[in-house]
Amino acid sequence: MNNHPVFRINQTGYAAEMPVYIAFLGEGAVRLTDGSGRLLRELHQMPSPIDQSSGDPVSVLDLGILPEGCYTLENNGFVRKISVLKNPWQPVVEMMVKGLYFQRCGCELKKEYAGVYAHPACHTAPAAEWENRERIHRITGGWHDAGDYGKYVGPGAVTVGHLLYAWKLFPASFSGSLNIPESGNGIPDVLNEARYELDWILQMQRPDGAFYHKLTKDHFAPFIMPQDDTDPEYLMPVSHCATAAASACLALASRVYADYDIDFSGRALSAALRGWTWLEANPDFIPFRNPEGVRTGWYGEKTDSDDRFWAACELFAATGDMDFREAAENLYRSGQNLTQFGWSDVGGMGALCCLFDLREKAGSILYFRQKSDFLRQSENALKLSSASGYGTSLSPDHYVWGSILPIMANAISMILNYMLTGREDMRKAALLQWHYAFGMNALDLCFVTGLGEKSVMHPHHRPSGSDGIDDPVPGLIVGGPNKCFPYPVHRERLGEDLPPAKYYLDELPSADTNEIAIYWNSPTVFVGAFFMKVSHS
Ligand SMILES: [Zn+2]
Repeated sequence: MNNHPVFRINQTGYAAEMPVYIAFLGEGAVRLTDGSGRLLRELHQMPSPIDQSSGDPVSVLDLGILPEGCYTLENNGFVRKISVLKNPWQPVVEMMVKGLYFQRCGCELKKEYAGVYAHPACHTAPAAEWENRERIHRITGGWHDAGDYGKYVGPGAVTVGHLLYAWKLFPASFSGSLNIPESGNGIPDVLNEARYELDWILQMQRPDGAFYHKLTKDHFAPFIMPQDDTDPEYLMPVSHCATAAASACLALASRVYADYDIDFSGRALSAALRGWTWLEANPDFIPFRNPEGVRTGWYGEKTDSDDRFWAACELFAATGDMDFREAAENLYRSGQNLTQFGWSDVGGMGALCCLFDLREKAGSILYFRQKSDFLRQSENALKLSSASGYGTSLSPDHYVWGSILPIMANAISMILNYMLTGREDMRKAALLQWHYAFGMNALDLCFVTGLGEKSVMHPHHRPSGSDGIDDPVPGLIVGGPNKCFPYPVHRERLGEDLPPAKYYLDELPSADTNEIAIYWNSPTVFVGAFFMKVSHS
């Protein structure tokens, strides 16, 4: 009776205080029984329409609010157990922040914190500037960005931004210990973990205020452990986007850490201000391109307007200087997408700063007008969710590389809409995105390593692929189905007819569907922290 193809659930469990939603692919009677076999509900379902993204006949069922306990779902002989718990997602959120600890570079991961995933320090050698090999820098720390061992300023900055706002808005969700080296120092562990990246970002600033785009090798390492990856790393050229995103995240950090470490807070603000000064002196956007001979991550962007917008908002919040507000207003007028929270578009991070921190102090454009623009723009996320059989907020033709990012960004947009309006439809749809990540999807798969009954086993992640341990490093989320930009060899294998939500391979070489990334963990942490707060209130 392990066969359960008609039920898709959040495999990490459900919260006792919130309605339980599952995806159902069958028809006829669905019986819900409790631990003692007592029938609680019987729902009669007509066949569902075909979901465009998955090709599945599927609907979301609302089982209502259930008390803590174990339950059984049954339909036509198919059975699946679900668990309802008091605080099911605290360990999930903690594991996903701890996942970033496992990405730490430049330090030993000790057995007492990392268990079987312990390894010696990596990437500790000094690095030369790519454009001037005579100039050597000793820069250590930061997180490995993704499945590779590169470190990139823009993606790191937005990852930190997600964590800091998750902590600012839902601090009670981060009260537990992560068992990291700093645990117990009087600072919440989520801030301890974010600080590890911030200390690295500070080192990536050039004396004139600009930030280097990345610290990587000229090629990706083979699947070896990080301490064995000893080819030289280089400081790649500075970029507008890296400088603006770093300035934004450091200005935010200056506020967040002021109560814990005033010296660090001051250094962060000063670095952010120097970054802004460089941006003012270099107004013409130049897109970053990999220098000739460099084949590591590109993270190229078409504009720095969104990064500058986020930076101006954060610098206004940190200093109260009206010049920053004026700069933010001008950038706002040029058009910002307020529901984007990824490395390539951080417009939503500016919205977070204005609508939830500055509020009325942001002024009529950045608060009142932005609020109404944000509410309008965030309707799209709900529309997409409503159109999907699984409730997934992504259109069939947008299963991109890293499709988990737009899905989590839409969850954040709907959460923020709910926080501004109290609309239950927004909160419910946001919850369906959370459930998607943990198994309520066309693949019946939990996309986070180490969680659930059936989760990713072969992520494109060098330590997981080379440590000799069967189970992958835990707490890391993969990018998921990708029909827009798969490797040609995978398109050939999977074929044109396979629906987009199933365009996925749990295989190590599949960077196109199965790579992990720090900036996919962090928005998921934000979403989980919100639902932890909801399940407690
Ligand atoms: Zn490293």
